[in-house]
Amino acid sequence: PVVTRFAPSPTGALHIGGARTALFNWLFARNQGGKFLLRIEDTDRARSTPENTAEILAGLTWLGIDWDGEPIHQFERAPRHAEVARELLAQDKAYKCFSTQEEIEAFREKARAEGTSTLFRSPWRDVPSSQHPDLPFVIRIKAPQTGAQTVHDAVQGDVTVSNEQMDDMVMLRSDGTPVYMLAVVVDDHDMGVTHVIRGDDHLNNAFRQKMIYDAMGWDFPVMAHIPLIFGPDGKKLSKRHGATAASEYQALGYPAAGMRNYLTRLGWSHGDDEFFTDAQAKEWFNLEGIGRAPARFDTKKLEHLSGQHIARTEDTDLFAQLTAFLAKTGAPALDPAQEDLLLRSMYTLKERAKTFPELLEKAHFALTCRPITPDEKAAAALDPVSRGILNELTEGLPGVSWEREALEHLVTEVAEKHGTKLGKLAAPLRSALAGRTVSPSVFDMMLILGRDESIARLKDASI
Ligand code: GLU
Repeated sequence: PVVTRFAPSPTGALHIGGARTALFNWLFARNQGGKFLLRIEDTDRARSTPENTAEILAGLTWLGIDWDGEPIHQFERAPRHAEVARELLAQDKAYKCFSTQEEIEAFREKARAEGTSTLFRSPWRDVPSSQHPDLPFVIRIKAPQTGAQTVHDAVQGDVTVSNEQMDDMVMLRSDGTPVYMLAVVVDDHDMGVTHVIRGDDHLNNAFRQKMIYDAMGWDFPVMAHIPLIFGPDGKKLSKRHGATAASEYQALGYPAAGMRNYLTRLGWSHGDDEFFTDAQAKEWFNLEGIGRAPARFDTKKLEHLSGQHIARTEDTDLFAQLTAFLAKTGAPALDPAQEDLLLRSMYTLKERAKTFPELLEKAHFALTCRPITPDEKAAAALDPVSRGILNELTEGLPGVSWEREALEHLVTEVAEKHGTKLGKLAAPLRSALAGRTVSPSVFDMMLILGRDESIARLKDASI
């Protein structure tokens, strides 16, 4: 069975690139009916913090990426990593190296002067243990010195590196702590990982990791190194391009479904499909669809997909997401009347909004209460002439049947009587009902607010 993993280092926030890596691993596992595991690579004790770990998990949760079992913490597994290093030592696939930093530096100096390879070749590789001094040592792997290594990467194809470029990498430091490269291999093996999907900045590590797999006689997992994400200018995505953390996109009010859809499309494709549901993403995801060229982050596309997901989300579900977003902004809780109006407005609010703040802007009419203070633009639309016409319209409202057609008919009639177009009357009417120039249509607002509240607002505005 397929087992994938996401292995973030908790030294910072969950970045867009990391979120996408997690998403690909998750989708692949779900597509294959396999498992998706989480490993917190917290061996850098100075920079790893519980807060970062919590934020990474929160980011994944926001994106709807669920993992199987409990997250593994790499640091806790250091004894197991050391055990594997010692096992390789026992099998003569690794050796104790007593060379000091000064000796290694001197080796490099000499190599530079002679124009030979500066890769360190330890003099201890073949020294029998009977001749070992009682001094601090590191454990180095015995790297193959001839031939070549080929990694069959599911994205990059066959990538080959000559073994002459491989050194006898250190696996265990002189203080007994494992190096990162060893920890990753041992953990992936012990966790039963079958597919490693990660950024192509780790491609070079794959060769060094393969040496350990080979030495231990372990199966090498399928590798899929995905190209990094670039900014619109073709440079590696960074702070210069704007928001890079998943939490920033959450705070900007992108719905998780839209973000997920966008990130899935960022470097993976399924024909010309742009919009897809989670179910479709899980059904379609495969390694073949991962592109070899770096994907460019495109905010317009993200907005477009977000808008489509908002429009297609069930009203009650969208309402729940929107109020959760609102709560996160620290806004005061809505009262039951506001909640009721907001929920009943969802069908029209969601039509053209790309983000939650856009939904909230349009929802102002439902969240505000009388007396409404119009903003500058809305106030400008309420000139004396318009107010006179609104007055007349208001007089007709108590007797009209409260449904769209009748309301449209009445408003048109009043507009025509004053030689003005419906559109001209709509602006002051909107301003009176919403106090804003951005809102749902005047008829939607009147139907949602109801007769009494609509009349009261119009009366407030015509004074
Ligand atoms: N901890 C590594 C990173 O955050 C990932 C290593 C891996 O996926 O093998 O870049």
